[in-house]
Amino acid sequence: MVYILTIALLLVWVVLIAMMVRAVLKTPSCPECGSDRIESVDMRTSTIKIDGQKVPAAWMYRRCHDCSARLKWDIGQDGWVELEPGEWDEVVRSAEEVP
Ligand SMILES: [Zn+2]
Repeated sequence: MVYILTIALLLVWVVLIAMMVRAVLKTPSCPECGSDRIESVDMRTSTIKIDGQKVPAAWMYRRCHDCSARLKWDIGQDGWVELEPGEWDEVVRSAEEVP
């Protein structure tokens, strides 16, 4: 049983990694102004709980060059999601610490 769960989780990861590669390759246009000049700031992976099950999740943080919109792309949902208050500052801070 544990074995099956491990395989299932592995499959979820494989799908997520494939979606991450796709998200990196394709740059969506800005939802605020429609510009396609969007830079990637950081990518985060985490584990979230859905119906008591641990599911891997990943987000890409992006900034629009033209209107400076701060954007968060949910890779699992394949769409823009709202940033939590203070989330952006924390992402930028840790992204800048990387040499
Ligand atoms: Zn924009």
